[in-house]
Amino acid sequence: MKVFVVNCGSSSIKYQLFSMTNEVVLAKGIVERVGGGGNGNGNGRGRLMHTAGSSHIGLDVDAPNHTAAMRIILDTLTDPKVGILKSVDEIEGVGHRVVHGGEEAEKSTRIDETILDAIRRNAQLAPLHNPPNLAGIEAAMAAIPNVPHVAVFDTAFLSTLPPRAHRYAVPAEWYSKYRVRKYGFHGTSHRYVTLRAADLLGKPADSVNLITCHLGNGCSMTAIANGRAVDHSMGMTPLEGLIMGTRSGDLDPAVVLYMISQGFSHQDVDKALNKHSGLEGVSGLSNDMRDLLEYREKGEKSAELAVEMFVYRLVKYVGAYYAVLPNVDAVVLTGGIGENSLPVRKMFCQQLASLGATPDEDRNLSTVGGKAGPITANGSRLPIWVIPTNEELMIARDTRRIVAQGG
Ligand code: AMP
Repeated sequence: MKVFVVNCGSSSIKYQLFSMTNEVVLAKGIVERVGGGGNGNGNGRGRLMHTAGSSHIGLDVDAPNHTAAMRIILDTLTDPKVGILKSVDEIEGVGHRVVHGGEEAEKSTRIDETILDAIRRNAQLAPLHNPPNLAGIEAAMAAIPNVPHVAVFDTAFLSTLPPRAHRYAVPAEWYSKYRVRKYGFHGTSHRYVTLRAADLLGKPADSVNLITCHLGNGCSMTAIANGRAVDHSMGMTPLEGLIMGTRSGDLDPAVVLYMISQGFSHQDVDKALNKHSGLEGVSGLSNDMRDLLEYREKGEKSAELAVEMFVYRLVKYVGAYYAVLPNVDAVVLTGGIGENSLPVRKMFCQQLASLGATPDEDRNLSTVGGKAGPITANGSRLPIWVIPTNEELMIARDTRRIVAQGG
């Protein structure tokens, strides 16, 4: 069965085509600068990057909207020179990443009018993500009309958070009337690494207890009890919790009111907290962990502080989740930083010595480039593992399952 996975952002469409017989990626790529934001070449056109086996294509394309971008992708997949598909009819299911499913989305679901309505309704809670997700779904459903399309919600795996974890201690009406609560994000990644961790630890998926950390540009942590999410660091929006590339994570909500009283507009504060805070805000140098580690090596104090704060916040959250879980089989690191950043992982392991982590430098050095494995020593009371995430494969698996069940 061939499954096409779509992850649609406001100005890009990422895609992967899977053969689900052996879970192999046949082709993958991205169309960037959808909507004519310019492609860095100053010509206002979009850019397609496509890989199939050993062939790579990079082309300037006309992608004024998501429908046009989708057409370009499907034309590329069926281009006789690339030779991946003879026709789009070979695709038996399409899986879509959808960021916000609200309270109704507890699992991946075949898309129909009701689901489209729910995605539209929840756009208010994820204004940057749900509208482009919807545009991608509509473009793909028009181009590949006769197969099931499946929505895989980022929020779904986190729908098991109990009220004590997902409610904020604010007037109850804010929840009942305005749906103010913690929803959480990155759920597909946390679900994937939970299943992989259970497998690698030799435990049934419904009895594994973990603290999973997705550390990329966006960062989040989930407490998992018996395979289910019971607490999570992101909130009603992806701003809460850990320190991220450009997002502040936790702060006193009164800071927002204070900055507004100082003459900042609501939009200024929103932009500052989402786009100019976090690693970038503290360092004033970069939002990228690789750059910051280099600056730190050169003795830049602000980079050193940003990295120190990043790790401190992580360790603090692990402590909190350790306290609320019945026991912890492992802490799992994933995402660009979790999978690759040796110095961050080293500091993290060292600082968790109080909870029983015994760092193993050789294991840390050898678990990079997509490899899964422990980075603590054999017998470490708190094992810490690196497990590369694969959200697209999770989406493809859900899609295959729903297609096989007849939609
Ligand atoms: P993601 O959003 O998952 O692609 O992760 C992006 C983050 O991962 C950025 O902060 C990158 O600097 C970081 N990252 C990726 N590769 C490395 C690496 N080799 N060393 C340190 N950080 C890395």
